[in-house]
Amino acid sequence: MAGHHRTGRVKDITAHSNPEVKAAKALHLKKHRVETGSFLAEGAKLAIDALDAGWTVERLFVAKAVLDEPHIAKIVTRALSAGADVLTVPEAVIGGITRRDNPQAIVSVIRERLAPLTALGPLKTGDTLVALDRVRDPGNLGTVIRTADAAGAKGVVLVGECVDLFSLETVRATMGSLFALPVAKAAPDQLTAFVRAQDAMLVGTHLKGARDYRAIDYRGKPVIILMGNEQSGLPDGLAAQCDALALIPQQGKADSLNLGVATGLMLYEARRHLLGCVPA
Ligand code: SAM
Repeated sequence: MAGHHRTGRVKDITAHSNPEVKAAKALHLKKHRVETGSFLAEGAKLAIDALDAGWTVERLFVAKAVLDEPHIAKIVTRALSAGADVLTVPEAVIGGITRRDNPQAIVSVIRERLAPLTALGPLKTGDTLVALDRVRDPGNLGTVIRTADAAGAKGVVLVGECVDLFSLETVRATMGSLFALPVAKAAPDQLTAFVRAQDAMLVGTHLKGARDYRAIDYRGKPVIILMGNEQSGLPDGLAAQCDALALIPQQGKADSLNLGVATGLMLYEARRHLLGCVPA
């Protein structure tokens, strides 16, 4: 909270061995993210999105070479007044933190934020959530958060042991949507208790689903779309708790759809009646 009550400082750093640079590099490891409660986000867009959404940006590393560019100067001013420290560094230091050959001009250190499951309620008709059972792939998780945001879903629930929400890869794949909608964690029984308490409809997706995903009526209740793990799909226990099991028909030889793609199809079908038309 302290960040909100003071103006940040500007500090010039030249060495890779600087302790703040070292601490930022350590945030690649989940262990250090858990210890500090902070994560890395690359690029100017994510810094702006985080500041816009009121997340706590603790530190901003900015390449010295771009400091005079107006849009960068503006971000620096905003970050400082939001209480972030701005560390000006050689571009190579940013590459060292993000492990990229062609680094962006900015990398931010941001405080992690998870919503309690109850904060995703109360749900009303027209509200949609996505619940992911044991998602493993950071690209899939980021894509789902981005797509849920775009389709107008209210939030995302991570069910069971999921890949870390705050890894650089996940954050990158969300393209800023991480800051736009709440993400909560829940055990399977907490999810099903929440579904009943909210009088919502739990729609599981399953390769052995009994219903065509286009034949389900999504209009009567709040909808929670439940997606299965990339390798093993939904466990029987969770599938049994669903009000409907949806199948997206397939032709061709693919065993299944990618998790992110299947989630996108489900979201746009469940919210078809709620999404405005593009003018002809
Ligand atoms: N081998 C897994 C299985 O047997 O379920 C495949 C899992 S698939 C890669 C990951 C998730 O995407 C599934 O659990 C389901 O939620 C969703 N999915 C993929 N293709 C689907 C389809 N055709 N219909 C419904 N859901 C699908």
